[in-house]
This record gives sequence, structure tokens and C-alpha cells, in this order.
Amino acid sequence: MYKVNPQRIQLGISACLMGQEVRFDGGHKRSTYVLHELKDMFDYLPICPEMAIGLGAPRKSVRLVRDQDTILLQSADGQLDITTPMNHYCDSKVAELSELGGYLFCAKSPTCGMERVTEYKIGTNNGTKTGVGVFARALMDAYPLMPVEETSRLNDSHIRDNFFTRVYAYHDWRCMLAKGLTKHELLQFHSRYKYLLMAHNQSIYRELGPLLATMENDVEAVAKQYFSGFMQALKCHATRKNQTSTLQHIQGYFKKQLNTSQKAELSDAIMQYRQGLVPLLVPITLINHYVREFSTEYIANQVYLHPHPQVLKLRYGL
Ligand code: SF4
Repeated sequence: MYKVNPQRIQLGISACLMGQEVRFDGGHKRSTYVLHELKDMFDYLPICPEMAIGLGAPRKSVRLVRDQDTILLQSADGQLDITTPMNHYCDSKVAELSELGGYLFCAKSPTCGMERVTEYKIGTNNGTKTGVGVFARALMDAYPLMPVEETSRLNDSHIRDNFFTRVYAYHDWRCMLAKGLTKHELLQFHSRYKYLLMAHNQSIYRELGPLLATMENDVEAVAKQYFSGFMQALKCHATRKNQTSTLQHIQGYFKKQLNTSQKAELSDAIMQYRQGLVPLLVPITLINHYVREFSTEYIANQVYLHPHPQVLKLRYGL
């Protein structure tokens, strides 16, 4: 049984991003976005694996070193090797983190970097940006569906929207599981996420409905398979083309309620979005207006219209 606080989402975070002076040089990598814009929305669990294994700050820096199939964490001169204590720490710490609703990593770190970390061939100074931080790798292997991101990438409005869309969907799913999984709840969940899935990945969306139709007695097995496909779909970037076709599907729901000029106004807003003349928020706001006016419950319940709290202002740049 999951223990999820439905009111608050806890995110794990590299401690240096919180302003803690834990980096090898005694400094930090404070993220003002995390500390100011997001602070009222999430609880944070700061973790510095390098400090946790007993290294102080300042300390000798380490880097990823590849020795055939083995990844080592060593200083450039090879005199400091923290591979074994770090692997032990990762094994035990990661097992404690199942309740997290997501993780924000510090980029480029040989411990916490999520991707494109410089990795050196043993005995050389030849580095390639193909590595993954040791702790980040352990966490992502243990919880492959957990939303994770590097804070430096959150400057991109599409990546930011995608990450928090996944965080809130992941939380929603776990709240549903915490109440007790039933066939009915699972079908309701899918119904609410229909248009969001369509916007993110149409082919996975088309597979997930029929998958639920195979649900007989083994609801848990189907739910597991469903959620894996669900998170895979949400990880895909919602393209302007897919967003447009999703908006047009929603528009179809109003065909009996809207008069001719309202239909034209909504069509124009969708096409202007398609052409990049207005942000996504323009057709979405118009649709939300019609939802309120015509009380269409099915559309009102669509997560697509409100995938994350408005106060985060995540859709402004889309
Ligand atoms: S990147 Fe990770 S290991 Fe390095 S200082 Fe930040 S929290 Fe500590």
C-alpha cells in the first residue's frame, strides 16, 4: 500500500541546488527557481551523496571513469576512489526513496548528473559526454517511472511543462493506488487523462484503451502495464501538431452548444496556435470558458485542461 500525502508532493533534490555549501569547492549551485517559484508547492528532501559518504566540503573532486564495463568514481590523479562506498550508499539510500514524487538533479555531476556527464576512459584524459551520475543512475534504475529532471533544463518552457505534468500525473496515480486500486478507478483515471495522452503520444494513447479492455480479474497486472505505457507517453514532448488535433477533438464536444460565431472563434484560436501566432493558453482559456458556460462534465474533468496548478505559470511559454 502506498503512503501518499494527497496534499503535498515531496521532491528529492541535489542538496547543492538548495543553496547548501556541499560542493567539492565548498560552494553551492542554488536554484532560485526551485527556492522561490516552487517553494510553496513542494516539500523538498535535499540529498548530497558525496557528503553522505563522509567526504567533507571542500574536498578533492571526482569524475566518472570507465574501465571496460565498470564505472568508477575517482579523482583525476586516481588517488581517491569512492566507487565502493558510493555504490553501497546508493544501494541503501535509494531503497528509502520510494515515497518521492520526483527528483531534481544537479547537471554535469559525476554523482548526480542525469545525462551527458563527462566520462573518461581509464588512464586517459579523453572524456565523452556519455555518462550518468552514479547516484542518478541508481535512482532511475530503481524507479524508472519516477519523474526526474535537471534544474538547468527547467529553463526550457517545454521541458518544464513536461516535467511538472509528469510529477502531478505520477502523484495522481499514487493517490489512486493509496485509496485502493479497482477496475472502476482505473477506467476513470484513463478517462480523465484521455486528451493529455493524445497530446503527448497518439500511438501509445491508442494502445492503452484496448489494454484496459483486456482487464478481467488481474487488475493489478494490467494497471502495472498501463502505468508504464502512460508514463512513457507523458515523457514525449507534446508537439504543436498533436496539441492542435487534441484541441480539435475537444472542440468536437461543443458542436451542439456553440453558435456559429463561437465555433469560428474557437477554430481561429486553435489555428492561430497551430501557426505559432498565439500561445497554447489562448485556445485552452477559450475552451475553459465554454466548459464553465455549458457544464460539460466529461471535458471539465480532463487533466489536459489543467495538468498542474495555474500558480506555477507553466503554460505561458508554450
Ligand atoms: S551534485 Fe550531488 S554530490 Fe555534488 S554537491 Fe551537489 S548534491 Fe552533492
